[in-house]
Formats: sequence, structure tokens, C-alpha cells
Amino acid sequence: MKIDSHHDFGKRECPGCAMQVPANSNRCPVCGYAFPGRSGLQRGVVWIALLLLALLLLPLLLPLAGK
Ligand SMILES: [Zn+2]
Repeated sequence: MKIDSHHDFGKRECPGCAMQVPANSNRCPVCGYAFPGRSGLQRGVVWIALLLLALLLLPLLLPLAGK
């Protein structure tokens, strides 16, 4: 049994017209349906991770700065 995983990542079904459209495009070329952007969500996760990292590192860095 051969599973072509690349095929699923390359295309996705448009909810607007049920056509297979490129997964990397944010808008359906057939009907113009705008896919909900994942890049914005990923950017938010990155900022939250950086904020948590800063909060974790702050107590470690403050004693060093005081010396
Ligand atoms: Zn479409």
C-alpha cells in the first residue's frame, strides 16, 4: 500500500466551489473564496512563545544585570 502524502499537502478542497486548489494559495482561483489565513495565527503563537520565553528568562537575567 502506497500513501502519497505529498498529494494531500499540495491541494485542498475549496469550500466555496468544491474544486481542488493549491494549498499554498490564500484565495481560490476559481471562485475567489478567501481561505482563513493560518499565517496570522502562527505569527500570534510565535509572539506568545517569545513573551513566555522573556518572562522565563527575566528572573535569570535580572541578578546578572544587578552585579
Ligand atoms: Zn472555489
